Amino acid sequence: MSRPVQARRLEGVDKNIWVEFVKLAATYSTVNLGQGFPDFPPPEFLKEAFSRAVSGEKHMLHQYTRAFGHPPLVKILAQLFGKLLGRDLDPMTNVMVTVGAYQALFCCFQAFIDEGDEVIIIEPFFDCYEPMVKMAGGTPVYVPLRPKAPKEGKLMSSADWQLDPAELASKFSEQTKAIVLNSPNNPLGKVFSRGELELIADLCVKHDALCISDEVYEWLVYDGKEHIRIASLPGMWDRTVIIGSAGKTFNVTGWKVGWTVGPNRLLQHLRTMHQNSVYHCATAAQDAVAQGFQREFEHYGKPDSYFVQLPRELQQKRDQLVQSLVAVGMKPIIPEGTYFLVADISEFKSEVPDVPNSDEPYDSRFAKWMVKNKGLAAIPLSAFYCGAHKNNYNSFIRFCFAKHPLGCKAKLWPLMGACSWEGEPGLLGQWKQHWSRWLLHHSSFQAG
Ligand code: PMP
Ligand code: GLN
Repeated sequence: MSRPVQARRLEGVDKNIWVEFVKLAATYSTVNLGQGFPDFPPPEFLKEAFSRAVSGEKHMLHQYTRAFGHPPLVKILAQLFGKLLGRDLDPMTNVMVTVGAYQALFCCFQAFIDEGDEVIIIEPFFDCYEPMVKMAGGTPVYVPLRPKAPKEGKLMSSADWQLDPAELASKFSEQTKAIVLNSPNNPLGKVFSRGELELIADLCVKHDALCISDEVYEWLVYDGKEHIRIASLPGMWDRTVIIGSAGKTFNVTGWKVGWTVGPNRLLQHLRTMHQNSVYHCATAAQDAVAQGFQREFEHYGKPDSYFVQLPRELQQKRDQLVQSLVAVGMKPIIPEGTYFLVADISEFKSEVPDVPNSDEPYDSRFAKWMVKNKGLAAIPLSAFYCGAHKNNYNSFIRFCFAKHPLGCKAKLWPLMGACSWEGEPGLLGQWKQHWSRWLLHHSSFQAG
C-alpha cells in the first residue's frame, strides 16, 4: 500500500511519556515512584461493594446498564455535587459517566473543539491535553505557571508557581473556545486559590469561553487547604464541565470509572460523543463506586470519612518523601494537593552531567539514568510541557508518593550513598520482599 495508512490527525501525537516510562520502570525499577497510582489497597467498603456487585444476587449487574451512567451512580453523584455546588442537579442530564477521566477529557475536546479553535492550557499540564486538542483540530495556546523564589531558607511550595494575570489575559482572543484548568494540578500539586480562579473565571466570562475543569485530585488536598470548584463562581456553572475519577477518589485507578458534571447545554454534546464511541461503561465497577459514594455521602465531613482519612495518610507520605529527598540533596517543591511531588535535581549535575546541545531535556536523561542505574523510577517535568517549552524547566523530576514508604527511603539513600542499609537487614529484607512481590504482580501487564 503506497498511500499513508495513518490519518492526518495522528501526525505528531505518536510519542507518549507513559508508554516510554512505564516500560523503563517495568524493565529496570525496583521502586516505581513514576506513574501515578497507589500501591496500597482501596478501602474495604469499596472492595466489598465490588464483590457484592459481581457475586451477589443482582445478576443484571453483569449486563449493560444505562449508556450515560448506571442510575445509582449518576443519582449519588448528582446528590453529592449538588450539595458541594449548592444547586439542584438532575442525575440524567447534569451527570455523565465515562471510562475514566481520560474519556471525559476526550469527549470534551471532540464535542466542543473545531478546526481553528484555540484552547488555553496552563503549563505544566497533564500531558494528554495537548494531543487531544490537536486530534480535535484545535490549537493549544500555552500559558505558564511561573515560579517565585521562596523565602530565604524555605523550601519552595507549589503555591509559589503562579499565573501572571497580564500574560494570561493576553492569551485570550476571538478564537479562544476553552481553557483547561487542572486544580489540584498534576504534576506540581498546586491548588489554585480563590483569587486565581476568579481571574480565570472573569476572563472566561469576558471572552465567552468554556472551562474544562479537570478535578480528579479534588479530595487530595493538604495542610487545611480548600479545593474550590470554579463552577461555583459567578457566571461559571453554565460554561464549565467538571471532570472526576474514581481512580483517584477511591484509589482504584484500574477500574476506570470517571464522570462529568455540568449544565445540560454542554453535557448533551458529551452524550452525543459518548453514544457514538464508547456507549457503555462497566456496570459492576459503577455499582461499586455508587455504593462507595453513598457511604461517603452519609459520612461526609466526619472523621471516619475516607475523604478525610485518605488526605491525612497521604500528607504523611508526602512529608516522609520530602524528608528523604532533602536528605539526598534534592530540593522538593511542597505540593498542596495530589499525590505528586516535583523536586529540583540541579545538585546532581556533577554526577549525571548535562550534554550541551542535546535534543533531549536534561531531566529526561536524568530520569532514564536514575531508573537504569539506581532502580528508581520518576517522571521528568519536561513531559508536562509542550515541545517548544521542554527546556524551560528541565532540572526537575516528578515523584508519586502514594507508595509504600519503605520503598522510598530505601532507594533514595543509596542513590546518594548517604546511608547504607547494611545495618538494617530486617527492614531491607521486608522492603525487598515487598517490591519483588510488587514487581512480579505489575511487570507482566505493564511492560507493553
Ligand atoms: N487528569 C489528570 C490530571 C490525571 O492525572 C489523570 C490520571 N489519573 C487523568 C486525568 C486520567 O484519569 P483516569 O485514570 O480516571 O482516566
Ligand atoms: N495520571 C497518572 C499520572 O500522571 C497516570 C497517567 C497514565 O498512566 N497515563 O501519573
